[in-house]
Amino acid sequence: ALHNSLVELRGNIRVHCRIRPLLPFDTVAGHSVSQERNFSEKVAHAVDDETVLVKCSRPGHAPINKTFQFERVYSASESQDTVFADVAPLLTSLLDGYNVCIMAYGQTGSGKTYTMLGPQLEENFAFSTEDESELGIIPRAAQEVFRLISEKPPGSYWVEVSVVEVYNNEIFDLLAKDSFGKVSGVKRDVVTTREGKSDVPLLMHETVENASEFLHLVNKGLQLRVRHPTLVHAHSSRSHLVVTLTITTIVSADNFGISWEDEQTSQRLNKEVSCTFPQKMRDNKSTSSSRASSPAQLEATEKMKQVKTRLQLVDLAGSECVGMSGVTGAALRETSLINRSLSALADVLGAIAEQRSHVPYRNSKLTHLLQDSVGGDAKLLVMLCISPHQKYLTESMQSLGFGTRAR
Ligand code: ADP
Ligand code: MG
Repeated sequence: ALHNSLVELRGNIRVHCRIRPLLPFDTVAGHSVSQERNFSEKVAHAVDDETVLVKCSRPGHAPINKTFQFERVYSASESQDTVFADVAPLLTSLLDGYNVCIMAYGQTGSGKTYTMLGPQLEENFAFSTEDESELGIIPRAAQEVFRLISEKPPGSYWVEVSVVEVYNNEIFDLLAKDSFGKVSGVKRDVVTTREGKSDVPLLMHETVENASEFLHLVNKGLQLRVRHPTLVHAHSSRSHLVVTLTITTIVSADNFGISWEDEQTSQRLNKEVSCTFPQKMRDNKSTSSSRASSPAQLEATEKMKQVKTRLQLVDLAGSECVGMSGVTGAALRETSLINRSLSALADVLGAIAEQRSHVPYRNSKLTHLLQDSVGGDAKLLVMLCISPHQKYLTESMQSLGFGTRAR
């Protein structure tokens, strides 16, 4: 209980750090052979499963020897399986009624997309689903959510998906369809509802029944970026990808059909519920094969209320733009907007970590969009991604600093 209350106090933010392996492209790029020796060094190390060491001495620079502590640190040899094993408990929380957010932060090339989605097919932004062991957090989270739901009474939970891209402080719906029924990437805005929640009016939510339907939709959304007039020029490293799973379930005063973990959760959820039934529930009530079809069940259904929880999975824009100088024109506007959204995110996480009464969610579209899954009693996991090579020292130190301030 003491441990739990400490976690509550810290605002439910945990930070994990993953150091990817050195890759061939780290060492090539334009260095002469003599420089190669200095530049081929690995400077970021996982010394144990909670500590990162950055150790570097270069001629003409002050030596660096600094450690950083996180809830979990993954070395280069740790697999997608291992990373996901630490994520899975958050999905149990999701079905227990907590909003959850998992986001990857780091410079371009540090492994954010690999960690969140898996190996990406560069030509069309889709990700490969061929090798299951290589799948990242997003596909595995969907599989786990559907596995957990399969253990519940049939028809008691259902799942909707939305996929958006935040680019230049604008939100694009990657699942929206035009009047011809073609997916077209419509611009949307985020608002605050009367209940103080964040909402994107008219955002496309597709109902999915299993993980492969989910993956199909996400890949469809990702491929749109190649064709969309605004997004086609925006490399994925300059936009934030937000995949949201909305889980809807029903509760009643007597918790019909659903056993909440504890009375408190059930009370909290009952406070938050809205009274409109989604189409699917109304359909269930009128079909004889469905669960809520006997007179007793139908009566119970009438007393039920709908509860929604949200899982937001975020592949952030490359953090190398933070502190970048020497760019002008459109590139400058783009860079300063990435800067602004990532620094707005840092401000929000800092305010939560320090338990300040005002959290500035509305300073950027990104933080406004994520508000309900990072603040309050939501559970947030920040996955810092680090390239270990010396030439990324500045960016790695910046990312480790971001993660440290968020705790
Ligand atoms: P980012 O999304 O941060 O720009 P990527 O996820 O695209 O970075 O990773 C850059 C490259 O490194 C990709 O080719 C990716 O497959 C590879 N990579 C990243 N992390 C790992 C890892 N842990 N193990 C093996 N390869 C990795
Ligand atoms: Mg990426």
